[in-house]
Amino acid sequence: MLFTWAVRTQVAIVGAGPAGMLLSHLLAAEGVDSVVLEARSQDYVLGRIRAGILDHCSVQLLQSVGLGRRLTEDGIEHGGIYLQCEDERQRLDFVDLVGRSVWVYGQTELQRDLIAAREAAGQSIFYEVADAALYDIDTERPYLTFIDGDGLPHRLDTDAIVGCDGSLGPSRASVPESAKQVWERTYPYSWLSVLADVAPSTDELIYAWHPEGFALHSMRSSTVSRLYLQVSNHDTLASWTFQRIWDALARRLGDGIEGWSLRRGPIAERSVLAMRSYVQAPMRYGRLFLAGDAAHILPPTGAKGLNLAIADVALLAPALSALVRRNKAELADAYSAAALRRVWRYTHFSWWMTTMLHATGDPFDAQLQRSQLHWLYSSDAAAMGLAETYTGPPLAVSDL
Ligand SMILES: Cc1cc2nc3c(=O)[nH]c(=O)nc-3n(C[C@H](O)[C@H](O)[C@H](O)COP(=O)(O)OP(=O)(O)OC[C@H]3O[C@@H](n4cnc5c(N)ncnc54)[C@H](O)[C@@H]3O)c2cc1C
Repeated sequence: MLFTWAVRTQVAIVGAGPAGMLLSHLLAAEGVDSVVLEARSQDYVLGRIRAGILDHCSVQLLQSVGLGRRLTEDGIEHGGIYLQCEDERQRLDFVDLVGRSVWVYGQTELQRDLIAAREAAGQSIFYEVADAALYDIDTERPYLTFIDGDGLPHRLDTDAIVGCDGSLGPSRASVPESAKQVWERTYPYSWLSVLADVAPSTDELIYAWHPEGFALHSMRSSTVSRLYLQVSNHDTLASWTFQRIWDALARRLGDGIEGWSLRRGPIAERSVLAMRSYVQAPMRYGRLFLAGDAAHILPPTGAKGLNLAIADVALLAPALSALVRRNKAELADAYSAAALRRVWRYTHFSWWMTTMLHATGDPFDAQLQRSQLHWLYSSDAAAMGLAETYTGPPLAVSDL
């Protein structure tokens, strides 16, 4: 094929989600140039409504690299969460338990900050690319080919490729079957996610166990509520009218108990999200490195997917810098094992929160779930375990 453009960069990044954009920012700070390829348009990427909780570790990192201004001004700091079991609601105070907090800040806002910062720095980003394909990833001179938004073919030569292209991108699929191991779990329930133009009915998130199914009251701002309901894997949006959604949320979140009530308002967006856990290891094959959802998927109950993507690239940036600037491979060689330690910690945590809070219809499961929730209410040791992982243990390059 005749390539219109054949260019070279130190690091090629596939995917302009939070992992890819933050990695390009961190690499630039290390003096490493990169090119980002993204299949969707910039508007599409900016409009995707997904995660909304940044843990302490992510917030510290973002602030330390100049990405904390809007987060600090517009984000909402939460010192704990409410855990509810039927009629009983108790607060876990993270600051008291582990001295750390979390922040409500929508992934869309973080994505906006990342794009603004990279554009201001002149980052090379190709949007709406097609047919991105990876070659020679097991050599020191890998390259990519792709078609740009105008239909022109390109070849991008590089020292390393980072797959930040989520669960459906080409990167993780480029690793030969014989060189990877995959662990996967599909849960027997899904989430119905709702974005509503109504002030939150709570100052901090409410995680509610209810025999009918789990519910979560979260928020995006002082005027926008984010609400989630456990639904069956066969449910469709058509079977959930606005009235049915609000009635189920009110019942499960305890409307009327001790004077608390759920505010209702216009629903701006609804979607059904399948719940699954997935880990692919190792997170490196030759000169291809995987980060974020390209390497792992978590059920959102623990609010860890976005935070894990941030933690991956925080480890990867110094490792790539040493590799491509000084030809030192030690950190790059350590990346996969170091990242996977946190991946498995968060995978377990997300599985644990999910299985503790979702109704299965089995009376034995229900008794175990009630027992775990009352243990968290009554034991500081148990509550500290939840708080420690929820708020994000500190991250250091010495983890590599
Ligand atoms: C539908 C959905 C809803 C979610 N909701 C929540 C939630 O409510 N709470 C929560 O805590 N977490 C949620 N998550 C998880 C969280 O949003 C992710 O963990 C986070 O986005 C991971 O960031 P990432 O950059 O690794 O991947 P992504 O954000 O998925 O970014 C990957 C990027 O790669 C691009 N790409 C894909 N294929 C190609 C290709 N062939 N060529 C070039 N580019 C490509 C994609 O367009 C995308 O921009 C949700 C995830 C999804 C998918």
